[in-house]
Amino acid sequence: MANLEIKNLSVAVEDKTILNGVNLTINDGEVHALMGPNGTGKSTLSETIMGNPRYRVTDGEIMLNGQDLLKMTVDERARNGIFLAMQYPMEVAGISNADFIHSAMNAKNANHAVPVLQFMQKLEQNMNFLDMKPEVAERDLNEDFSGGEKKRNEILQMMMLQPELAILDEIDSGLDIDALKVVAKGINSMRDNKFSALMVTHYQRLLNYVVPDVVHIMMDGKIVETGGPELAQQLEKTGYSDIRETLVGES
Ligand code: ADP
Ligand code: MG
Ligand code: MG
Repeated sequence: MANLEIKNLSVAVEDKTILNGVNLTINDGEVHALMGPNGTGKSTLSETIMGNPRYRVTDGEIMLNGQDLLKMTVDERARNGIFLAMQYPMEVAGISNADFIHSAMNAKNANHAVPVLQFMQKLEQNMNFLDMKPEVAERDLNEDFSGGEKKRNEILQMMMLQPELAILDEIDSGLDIDALKVVAKGINSMRDNKFSALMVTHYQRLLNYVVPDVVHIMMDGKIVETGGPELAQQLEKTGYSDIRETLVGES
């Protein structure tokens, strides 16, 4: 179960205000898309939900299932079912991809470690599903992975960890059409009434394959419009500048 409520959230990075009064509620089972031009704060919101300490909350609140998310450590957030696929996944030399995923699963289920055999079977099954080469399991985490391999690997981690709320920050960037379809297949395989997601994207393209329940548009650190999938289609036609002009006209 994951119900996320963000109220009047303001966030600063090094004394610069980036988010300025964000309101957003994601209910159990809902997939939301967050769109908006570069530099508007989409990654800032994603990192803040996961608890990256670089992002300082200066106002507002985030509640997860009625509990104060902002009081939780990053580990506690993960144990409570939150998963972040970062826009730029970290490269870690000296730790294999499989070992990394296994430790993350064990850290999430603090009371019972996932037996190795069971882990290996699940990993193989999911890698097959995502059309991944078996050798990718044994390579160092994200080291010399292509852009597409990194994104696919984030989806693999998500499928292994089975989060209740996944934040997917530009999971579609740099993907060719085949990789995009695979990534979408992975996300769709998670969809049920206990899984929710916030998909950050610039493009409508991903939303043809993973149809969101709700679409938000963020500009200058605020959510300025919320609607259904048709909002993303409209955006594809008009671009962000039209929305900006409309907003300036209104104010
Ligand atoms: P988006 O994901 O929508 O492209 P970001 O959240 O990455 O936007 O960035 C929003 C603004 O915050 C940008 O102006 C960016 O330069 C600034 N910013 C983000 N992260 C940092 C950081 N770690 N240090 C300094 N400035 C940052
Ligand atoms: Mg950006
Ligand atoms: Mg970003």
